[in-house]
Amino acid sequence: MVFEHSPKTRDWMKRVQAFMDEYIYPNESTLDAQMAAFGANRWQVPPILEELKEKAKAQGLWNLFLPESDFGAGLSNLEYAPLAEIMGRVLWSSEVFNCSAPDTGNMEVLVRYGSETQQERWLKPLLRGEIRSAFLMTEPEVASSDATNIQTSIIQEGDSYVINGRKWWSSGVLDPRCQVYIVMGKSDPNEAAYRQQTQILVPANTPGIKVVRHLNVFGFDDAPHGHAEVILDNVRVPAENVILGEGRGFEIAQGRLGPGRIHHCMRLIGMTERVLEMTVQRLMAREAFGSYLHEKSVWEQRIGEARVMINQARLLTLDAAYKMDTIGNKAARAEIAMIKVAAPRMARKIIDEAIQAFGGAGITDDFKLSYYYAQARTLSLADGPDEVHNRTIAKVEFAKHAPRPALAH
Ligand SMILES: Cc1cc2nc3c(=O)[nH]c(=O)nc-3n(C[C@H](O)[C@H](O)[C@H](O)COP(=O)(O)OP(=O)(O)OC[C@H]3O[C@@H](n4cnc5c(N)ncnc54)[C@H](O)[C@@H]3O)c2cc1C
Repeated sequence: MVFEHSPKTRDWMKRVQAFMDEYIYPNESTLDAQMAAFGANRWQVPPILEELKEKAKAQGLWNLFLPESDFGAGLSNLEYAPLAEIMGRVLWSSEVFNCSAPDTGNMEVLVRYGSETQQERWLKPLLRGEIRSAFLMTEPEVASSDATNIQTSIIQEGDSYVINGRKWWSSGVLDPRCQVYIVMGKSDPNEAAYRQQTQILVPANTPGIKVVRHLNVFGFDDAPHGHAEVILDNVRVPAENVILGEGRGFEIAQGRLGPGRIHHCMRLIGMTERVLEMTVQRLMAREAFGSYLHEKSVWEQRIGEARVMINQARLLTLDAAYKMDTIGNKAARAEIAMIKVAAPRMARKIIDEAIQAFGGAGITDDFKLSYYYAQARTLSLADGPDEVHNRTIAKVEFAKHAPRPALAH
C-alpha cells in the first residue's frame, strides 16, 4: 500500500493549484460583484466564468473527471480525487475546468451509453463547455430515493416518444446555457421493476416544457445554476433520443451516480479544509477572558477532532476512488456509499463549529459559512439520502454471513 500520490498526480495537482492561485482566488470577489450587478435577474452568466473557462481550456486543465477516457484528460478516479479537492475550495471553480455537476454525470452517461448521433449532437458541445445540461429524475409526488417509484411516462407513438410528468430539484434548468435534459421516466409499467424506466434526451426548448418555479436551498438561490420544478406536458421527441434502449434507465442511473457521488465528496473535503483553515486563523486572532480563543481547551478538542474527521473522510474517499478504478463502480458500491454518508456529516459538523468560532460573523454572508453549511446539509439528501446509502453498506455487510434460518412467528 502506497500512501502518496504518483508523480503524475502530483504534477496535475501543481498545475490545478497554480491555476487556482493565479485565476480563481483573485476572482472570487469579481464573480460576487458581477452577480450582484445583475440585480434581481440573477439567471445570467457572470462573464468572468466564461473568461476563466477559456484560460483553463488553453492550459489543458479541462474535462479532468472522465476516468480513463479518450474524451477527457485520461485520469483515473484516484488521480482526479485530489484535483477535485483543490477545486472544492471555491464552490464555483469546478465549472471553470468543465468538471461541474450535473454536466459531468450527463457527459459520463453519453460517453458510456450514448449513440454516435447523440454524442455528436450533445456530448461534443458539452465537452467543449459550450452548453450545459440537467438531469430530471426526482418527482414531488413520490419518494424518489426509490427510483422504481418514478411516475413520469415516456410512451412511444410512432417514431416519437411522448413525455408527461412533473419533476423537481432539476438542477441547472434555469441556467441560460442549459440546452438539454436527460429525463428519466416509465416506459412500461408492466415490465419487471428495474426494467420499467427509460432515460431520454429532451432539448430544453421542446414545446410542452414549463419551468414552474425556482427552488431555494435554505434561502440561497444557487444562481446562475439553480434548481427548479418542471412540468412536462405532452413533450414530444424523436425515438432516437432514447439512451441505450427502452427499459434501460435504471441501469444507466446506477452507472451515472457512482462517480457523481464521489466527486461531490472530494469537493466537500476541499471546502471543509478551507473552513478549518479559516477557523484556526480566526481563533488565533481573537482574545476573550484573558487568553486567545485557540488557547481554550474546548477549541483544542474541536480542532483536533476536525483534523481527525477530515483525514478519515479523505482516506475513505481515496479508498473508494481506488476501488472504483480497480474493481469497478458496482463492486465498489459499499465504499461509494460510505463516503457519501461520511463526507457530508463530517463537513456539517466542522462548518457548524466554524460558525460557532466566528460568533455573530459566522451567520452573516461575510465569510460564506452559512452557504457552505447549506451545501453540506444538502449533500446528505442529493444523490440519495444517507439511509439509502447505509442500506447498501448494510446489505454488503449482511451478505458476508451465512443466511440464518427463518424466525418462527
Ligand atoms: C440541492 C439539491 C439538488 C438536487 N439535484 C437533483 C437533480 O439535478 N436531479 C434530480 O433528479 N434530483 C435532484 N435532487 C433530488 C435528490 O436526489 C432527492 O431529493 C433525493 O434522492 C431524495 O428523494 P426525495 O426528495 O424524493 O426524498 P424521499 O425519497 O421522499 O425520502 C425522504 C426521506 O425518507 C427517508 N428514507 C428514504 N428511504 C429510506 C430507507 N430505505 N430507510 C429509511 N429511511 C428512508 C430518508 O430520511 C429520506 O431523506 C436534488 C436535491 C437537492 C436537495
